[in-house]
Amino acid sequence: MSRTPSRRSLLRGLTVVGAAVIGFDPATRSWAAEGTQPDTGADAALATVPRLDGTLVMDEASLAAASEDYGHMVHHRPVAVLRPGSASDVVAMIRFCNDHDLPVAPRGQGHQTFGQAQVQDGLVIETATLAEIGPLCPQSSTVTVGAGAKWSDVARVTLAHGLTPPVLTDYIELSVGGTLSVGGIGGQAHRYGVQVDNVAELRVVTGAGELVRCSPARRSDLFHAVLAGLGQCAVIVEATLRLVRAPERVRHYLLTYHDLETFVEDQRLLVEEDRFAYVGGQISADAGGAFRVHTLEAVAYGPPVGPAPDDAALLRGLRHSGVEQADLPYFDFLDRLAPLVASLKEAGFWTYAHPWLNLILPGDRAAALSAPVLDALTPAELGPGVIQLYPMRRDRLTTPLFRAPDDPLPYLFDVLPATPPDDSAAVDRRLAANRAAYEAAAAAGGTQYPVGSIPFSREDWQTQFGEAWPRLAEAKWRYDPRQLLTPGQGIF
Ligand SMILES: Cc1cc2nc3c(=O)[nH]c(=O)nc-3n(C[C@H](O)[C@H](O)[C@H](O)COP(=O)(O)OP(=O)(O)OC[C@H]3O[C@@H](n4cnc5c(N)ncnc54)[C@H](O)[C@@H]3O)c2cc1C
Repeated sequence: MSRTPSRRSLLRGLTVVGAAVIGFDPATRSWAAEGTQPDTGADAALATVPRLDGTLVMDEASLAAASEDYGHMVHHRPVAVLRPGSASDVVAMIRFCNDHDLPVAPRGQGHQTFGQAQVQDGLVIETATLAEIGPLCPQSSTVTVGAGAKWSDVARVTLAHGLTPPVLTDYIELSVGGTLSVGGIGGQAHRYGVQVDNVAELRVVTGAGELVRCSPARRSDLFHAVLAGLGQCAVIVEATLRLVRAPERVRHYLLTYHDLETFVEDQRLLVEEDRFAYVGGQISADAGGAFRVHTLEAVAYGPPVGPAPDDAALLRGLRHSGVEQADLPYFDFLDRLAPLVASLKEAGFWTYAHPWLNLILPGDRAAALSAPVLDALTPAELGPGVIQLYPMRRDRLTTPLFRAPDDPLPYLFDVLPATPPDDSAAVDRRLAANRAAYEAAAAAGGTQYPVGSIPFSREDWQTQFGEAWPRLAEAKWRYDPRQLLTPGQGIF
């Protein structure tokens, strides 16, 4: 039987500013917001949205923001946005979405670049409202935080207790749930693994709407399907993170190299000898426009974590051509990108397209695989973006779904361009270059670090997950049986 939807109660295409959603009409697959007067007939068919501690909205500004990300290339428009006031809200709305076959995408800070946190005609769950930090347990050196908490805020709280997450991303305004869904790489990874390797417990809501506590000892299959699981099986609502003692101050070195092989070999030496707490590296263009300026970034932690840094011992045997060094408070080191980010925002570059390439290369091929990519790139194509190349240690990477090559020292290789948003030809060229670079890396056993913009098929995802694929696919069917969660990743 067909029925005529109420014009006043059904809001497809209608702009509702700041109104909370009250119901969903399964017949027309459209939503109703408060402040509208439903017709009697349509009202009777309306599935009422569960009572929530937070808010569910469908105003134009919220939907437009949820159709964007840091890449500014992909735009999928949801039909509603949940700002949960509690984990129960996430449970209630995921169950509601199951009842009505609505896809769901969790979103932290929206810093993915290729639509991974977006969903067409579904529900976006903005986790920023789940940002509680604490309790912190000094005995076990852990802190429990809401998934929407930003790492910068987590670090501020833990540092007041002399503790820090062992690994932090270079940019710390990312959500805990967002980076735990992808991995979370920083220059401390050679010592501690990546962020997902430093999680004691999670509270998650599965795709079926079940609130579950999981850890390596309890529901471990779910725990391992969620960490670096790209939001496929559950929404993280809370994480208990392991902490280590924090230094008060650090010594920060920038060592210059004009030759890629020497740069890579010295990074390798530093990581093998574990001389520094942090080892990173950037590559920039010289005056002639060739990407031949290699800057090894190394950081030694001072007391109470390590001894006062000894320059001669730390730099022994390195073959750099120049050095800059500075002593700074630990938090200033963690937040070192803040001035750069502020200037990029002020100059309008933050809203540029970001067709990012993020790969993890086998260490013994790091120079050979990155060199052709660098040779083909021009400074104009990179724009105000950056290039990173630095090693991790494979034996510290313990999370099954964080995919890295089978090599003792895999290298993270990031080419992070910022492209004028209206230059679609330039964006397409970068996406094609990303694809070619990925194929060369994959043929040598490399993987992608899945935060960037590489056109990827379902078969590519199977290659990416390799031996972990059957377990991920099985977990997907078990925990998200209606396949509603995080379609923007394009995996299932
Ligand atoms: C300027 C900048 C600097 C960066 N620096 C680094 C870096 O140094 N190291 C590094 O590793 N990465 C870095 N990244 C990449 C970053 O880690 C990822 O983009 C990360 O996913 C962003 O976190 P977010 O909170 O913005 O997540 P979002 O982009 O909002 O979400 C990421 C993915 O996880 C899913 N998701 C989000 N929250 C949850 C949740 N609670 N439960 C389940 N799934 C969820 C989303 O649906 C999406 O698929 C950087 C990105 C930018 C833009």
